[in-house]
Amino acid sequence: MKAMVLEKQDLLENLPLKLKDLPLPEPEDDEIRLKISVCGVCRTDLHIVEGELPAHKMPVIPGHQIVGYVDKLGAHAKKYRLGDRLGIPWLYKTCGKCKYCKSERENLCDAPMFTGYDVNGGFAEYVIVNEEFAYPLPGNYNDKEVAPLLCAGVIGYQAFKATGLKDSGRLGLFGFGSSAHILLQICNHLGIETYVVSRTEKELKLAEKLGAKWTGRIDEDMGVLLDAVIVFAPSGELLVKALKKIAKGGIVVSAGIYTTPLPGFDYSHIYPEKTLTSVAHTSRKNVQEFLNLAGRFKIHTEVNEYELAEANMALLNIKYSKISGSSVLINQPS
Ligand SMILES: [Zn+2]
Ligand SMILES: [Zn+2]
Repeated sequence: MKAMVLEKQDLLENLPLKLKDLPLPEPEDDEIRLKISVCGVCRTDLHIVEGELPAHKMPVIPGHQIVGYVDKLGAHAKKYRLGDRLGIPWLYKTCGKCKYCKSERENLCDAPMFTGYDVNGGFAEYVIVNEEFAYPLPGNYNDKEVAPLLCAGVIGYQAFKATGLKDSGRLGLFGFGSSAHILLQICNHLGIETYVVSRTEKELKLAEKLGAKWTGRIDEDMGVLLDAVIVFAPSGELLVKALKKIAKGGIVVSAGIYTTPLPGFDYSHIYPEKTLTSVAHTSRKNVQEFLNLAGRFKIHTEVNEYELAEANMALLNIKYSKISGSSVLINQPS
């Protein structure tokens, strides 16, 4: 099979992902093999490729928003049939034994494996997964529409749940990439007002088009204090500034797996009763809950399409904020 393989972490300008021909992987026991049609491209892939995240498996095939069709079953796989359309997100496997796995917080598992990081992911033509960690996808989306929901959508939803908001209130979305543009539409659906902060005009325009209540730069006055902010941009400085945008009792949630250092701040940033936290990964329960929610109405995903061999370019465009919305790699049918 063809795959874009990372052999050594390096700056994207040096095109570290190389197109290779690899043997077809074989599913064992309760694993299944998917023939990949589309794989989303995410900022986390950028951090894996360039090395802000330490290397785990090397060489590795990145990619963790995989849409594919079951093409081979392991000897003991029984949940799905050949041809079923399934998705694979970032959470590839959990231990099932640690205190987090046993208390419905498997996103914090002590020994997790992540797709496209600890095991080969979706920048390829085929992938292997345990059947318990793959998900049927809502039928009201085609493959390239649904791929960005699998990480960008799911992570945004995990962060949204951390805010405690349900069906009213004012939510800030700071940094308006793939995750935020999906979450904004969920907020519209649920009746939550969104306040979008971004440095790029393109992103602010998209936010406005999608129905944000307010859009602007971080130093502009919103005229109100927010109940919660989710910071999607990997900026410690923005996290601290967000604390000044929330009302007492409010919460700032960092949705990133990586962020620049936080500058020092005085007590007034967290008093009275302001919370600063982060979300890490997702549980299977939240992935399923999010996919169910997405199936009830149509989330519009702004999708930039690339061929598999263009993965370096797709990531470079995310690095330099050259695109708005989500990016996907598409496999030509063979
Ligand atoms: Zn565990
Ligand atoms: Zn991701």
